[in-house]
Amino acid sequence: MSGPTRVVVIGGGVMGAATAYFLARDHGLRAVVLERDPSYRRASSARSASSIRQQFSCPINIRLSQASLEFYRRIDSELRVDAPVDIGLREPGYLYLAGAAGAAILHDNERVQRDCGARVALLTPVQLRARFRWLNVDDLALGALGLAGEGWFDGYSVLQAFKRKAHALGARFEAREAQRIAVQAGRVHGVSCGDGAKVDCDAVVIAAGAWSAPLARQLGFDLPVAARKRDVFVFDTPARLDACPLVIDPSGVWFRPEGRGFICGAPPRGADRDDAPLEDIDHGLFDDVIWPRLARRVPAFEALRVVNAWAGYYEFNTFDRNGLVGRVPGCANAFVACGFSGHGMQQAPAVGRALAELIASGAYQSLDLAPLSPQRLIERRPLLETNVI
Ligand SMILES: Cc1cc2nc3c(=O)[nH]c(=O)nc-3n(C[C@H](O)[C@H](O)[C@H](O)COP(=O)(O)OP(=O)(O)OC[C@H]3O[C@@H](n4cnc5c(N)ncnc54)[C@H](O)[C@@H]3O)c2cc1C
Repeated sequence: MSGPTRVVVIGGGVMGAATAYFLARDHGLRAVVLERDPSYRRASSARSASSIRQQFSCPINIRLSQASLEFYRRIDSELRVDAPVDIGLREPGYLYLAGAAGAAILHDNERVQRDCGARVALLTPVQLRARFRWLNVDDLALGALGLAGEGWFDGYSVLQAFKRKAHALGARFEAREAQRIAVQAGRVHGVSCGDGAKVDCDAVVIAAGAWSAPLARQLGFDLPVAARKRDVFVFDTPARLDACPLVIDPSGVWFRPEGRGFICGAPPRGADRDDAPLEDIDHGLFDDVIWPRLARRVPAFEALRVVNAWAGYYEFNTFDRNGLVGRVPGCANAFVACGFSGHGMQQAPAVGRALAELIASGAYQSLDLAPLSPQRLIERRPLLETNVI
């Protein structure tokens, strides 16, 4: 069977834009990307902390981040159109900290990570103290420090670079809201938009982030993906922390350098409501939960000042907190890439490339993403990731 010739991608965030780029680069397919809000006001890709790590518990997540990191390291040669592409990639590592209760998990994860070629050092409190003199290690049993290939970058620049290059290769980004996916005899043949336009296609990709579920429901498939708000706080401090990685406290509070200051966050308090307004920053979360833990972990953070805060939605997969990538069960020419639950920015290049292969040729070539197939929902086989921030 020959591959599709007209692909519509619904959603022009990092997943949709990366998929459109690889469809064009590797398969000569010029997708139409429907994006209802080209200003990306509520899109996760514009509100991300954009950090990348190899410290996952699932091999597929480690491999996705490794492949994406390679891409990000050479992003200028991949995506340059006119001006150089600079995403400010820095690689100071992630540092997971554990008390007595969590140490065994760090040991288990490190074995999986080592098998996948990740370089992670398990450090005792004494070793932690020697390496990070600013860190209070009193209540710690162990730390796991990524020695290579972990850090952060500017996610919005990544999104724009994918978009520009995909466009230069012939993809069309249209400012339209996809409303109805037209299906006949188990195959999609077009997408109707809010403005009355109808775009014919012989393959569709649902990459609508936290808003993917209603679209998949039109194909008779229930995606357990919801918009879950996460707050990020920006603070200034006179403290200077040498070689500071992204630190994850045993409490779940995390922080990392950003520009001249730091950003930080924590799991939400109370009910994790679907679609909570992004304007409702929970400032009490910082005052009551984050700040006391920051000051305990890094005594130099006693003096700090919150200077900004923002919120964004995790496109949260409530089934097993991992990406859902692949063919939509029951619909041969419909595909999905969503539900990344806080780790999509670091997976987008590898997901986009592999998904483009599946769409164009019917099989994965660069990386087998079968473990992320939505089929696991039908079979009730969760792919549990224990390292979710
Ligand atoms: C606070 C925060 C911190 C994060 N930190 C990290 C991190 O450190 N590392 C990491 O890897 N990831 C992180 N993430 C997650 C990452 O940002 C997301 O996984 C990723 O951006 C998802 O990209 P996407 O393209 O799937 O979704 P989005 O960027 O949300 O894009 C989906 C797009 O679809 C559009 N759309 C929706 N419905 C329709 C429709 N019907 N028609 C047309 N268009 C439509 C939307 O307007 C949107 O632009 C974080 C996320 C948040 C919110």
